[in-house]
Amino acid sequence: MPYKLPLSSPIFDGNESLYMQQALSSGQLATNGEFISKFENKLSKKIKQHQAVALNSGTSSLHLGLVLLGVGPGDEVICQSFTFCASANPIVYLGGTPIFVDSEEDTWNISPELLEDAIMSRIALGKKPKAIVVVHLFGMPAKMKEIMEIAGRYTIPVLEDAAEAVGSTYKGHSCGTFGKVGVFSFNGNKIITSGGGGALISDEVSIIERAKYLSTQAREDLPYYQHLEIGYNYRMNNMAAAIGLAQLEKLDGLISKRRLINHRYRLLFEGFQGVSFQTETEESQSNYWLTTILIDKPQTGFSNDKLRIALFKNGIETRFLWKPLHLQPAYRSVPFYGGHIAEKMFLKGLCLPSSANMTFEDQKKVFGVFEKELSKIS
Ligand SMILES: *Cc1c(COP(=O)(O)O)cnc(C)c1O
Repeated sequence: MPYKLPLSSPIFDGNESLYMQQALSSGQLATNGEFISKFENKLSKKIKQHQAVALNSGTSSLHLGLVLLGVGPGDEVICQSFTFCASANPIVYLGGTPIFVDSEEDTWNISPELLEDAIMSRIALGKKPKAIVVVHLFGMPAKMKEIMEIAGRYTIPVLEDAAEAVGSTYKGHSCGTFGKVGVFSFNGNKIITSGGGGALISDEVSIIERAKYLSTQAREDLPYYQHLEIGYNYRMNNMAAAIGLAQLEKLDGLISKRRLINHRYRLLFEGFQGVSFQTETEESQSNYWLTTILIDKPQTGFSNDKLRIALFKNGIETRFLWKPLHLQPAYRSVPFYGGHIAEKMFLKGLCLPSSANMTFEDQKKVFGVFEKELSKIS
């Protein structure tokens, strides 16, 4: 069913059609056209000292990132529990085991204290984690200073899952540029989209070169097909890069719009007991890909799900926050460090419609449904 107000819909009002047409006319739709390097160059400029390799999804970028960090069978990889399954699944693809860690209240991202507990505990058990996967949830930067300090102390490389945080910054630097490897996603409802796509970023030339090589089937530069290694078919195609480039040209504007939407939701909900927002710290700036709220039932009188259903009946799409991975049946037997922070947020949270073309009137409709639920209680 098409929603009147969808959660997060893309807008194609720029050069998308033009570039797609150019890609078609060039006859190059696969992993060989000119838009791939144009897209990479533009993305690289955004992230300063770092370079980007365009790949075909955020998930494949995470997979390749872990390969480049040397993760293999039997390895343990620490991963934020409060995230989408794609942050952890590639660990399993490689025969490794995720070690899940709870979030902290401030950013909703991995707790630095619990991260260190988990590292010390695994080392005490005789198994030093091979890597740490940090996520910037819904675009909100994690506490990278503390996290990088801890990772540095134990010399464990960090992979930043910045799939949702394209354009978010921490201490003025782009999310994804703190770890040894960073990952973006350009899937359909992310802040910018290439249809499907992702990118792996790093400031190490050797990592970038190797990512390009492994993502194109590890083919040797010879007149015939020779492979010294097993590679992947993970490169972004030219058509996706054409759309991605047009979207990237509009990134700053889209971030401003999503931030304005977040600001207006705050104005609307200000002063209502039992409603709280995921909020930036002094060091961070979120792209506010999605505006997310917590509903405290004892104070509001209704749950997040009650509100979700009421909004649904009005043609308004919302979504639960990610169900923490340590609570997923598929990850039943995986170790977990923490308590009930992510779990509590999951049980209270709701992602509000945050499409960049939402008007204040649209947002007032969302708020109106909330007010109506309130009036039923009192
Ligand atoms: C979307 C997303 C991914 C996966 O990206 P795809 O492009 O859909 O494969 C990974 N991690 C997080 C946190 C995401 O939100």
